[in-house]
Amino acid sequence: MTPLLEVDGVSRSFGSVPALVNASLTVERNSITALIGPNGSGKTTLFNVITGNLRADTGRVRFDGHDVTTARPAALYRRGLSRTYQQARVFSQLTVEENLVVAGGFGLAQLFGRRVNRRDRQRATELIDEFRLGRVADLPAAELSYGQRKLLEFAAVLMSSPTLILLDEPTAGVNPVLIETMEHHIRRLHAAGITFLIVEHDMNVVMRLCDPVVVLDQGREIFTGPPDAVREHPAVLDAYLGA
Ligand code: ADP
Repeated sequence: MTPLLEVDGVSRSFGSVPALVNASLTVERNSITALIGPNGSGKTTLFNVITGNLRADTGRVRFDGHDVTTARPAALYRRGLSRTYQQARVFSQLTVEENLVVAGGFGLAQLFGRRVNRRDRQRATELIDEFRLGRVADLPAAELSYGQRKLLEFAAVLMSSPTLILLDEPTAGVNPVLIETMEHHIRRLHAAGITFLIVEHDMNVVMRLCDPVVVLDQGREIFTGPPDAVREHPAVLDAYLGA
């Protein structure tokens, strides 16, 4: 079986700053793969290249057997690749329920362009239940706490029935109870067959949840392996502790 996602030799520079240098990465089907690395190592740039938000200068990206190197985000979304952002992106003026319904159609066009279909409404109701957002379902997202917004964004990516979800720091800045909640949802969805690629700074979360772990440093992939091998690997120690 081909891997669900293959990034092959991707480079991307911003002016003279090389953000990714011949970076490669494989995400096997139904894995929870971690992407870690020091600040500035290229994690966000790699996410953006995978999701079609940024073009690679060189290299290829394949998703589910298709070359998606030049695919746009909306096309990837329809194919089953969804993502969250470090700062949760939700529509502040829309209610929790409206945010979910809108996500089903990849944007506001859904609300304003055509009638919302019954299936999306039903799915939104299920997700509100699964993510225990019932008490805030009719509130504008602006009134949610930071953590609730992250949960809402997570629920929203499920509206498209994705096969691969990219999570950008799902536990950053959230309290310990919500970290557990996030882990619970990732495990539950993983058990249901969803594949994850996760940028995560909290090594405890990485150790509990992810296998394999991919380490980026200065735009290069320097290590891929099981979580217990990561902490001892000289190149990884060097990247985190070196000058
Ligand atoms: P990480 O997510 O691992 O912190 P990034 O992908 O954000 O790393 O950044 C990798 C490198 O690319 C850094 O040197 C950063 O300054 C640079 N970079 C990222 N985005 C831009 C941009 N839009 N313009 C200029 N430089 C950028």
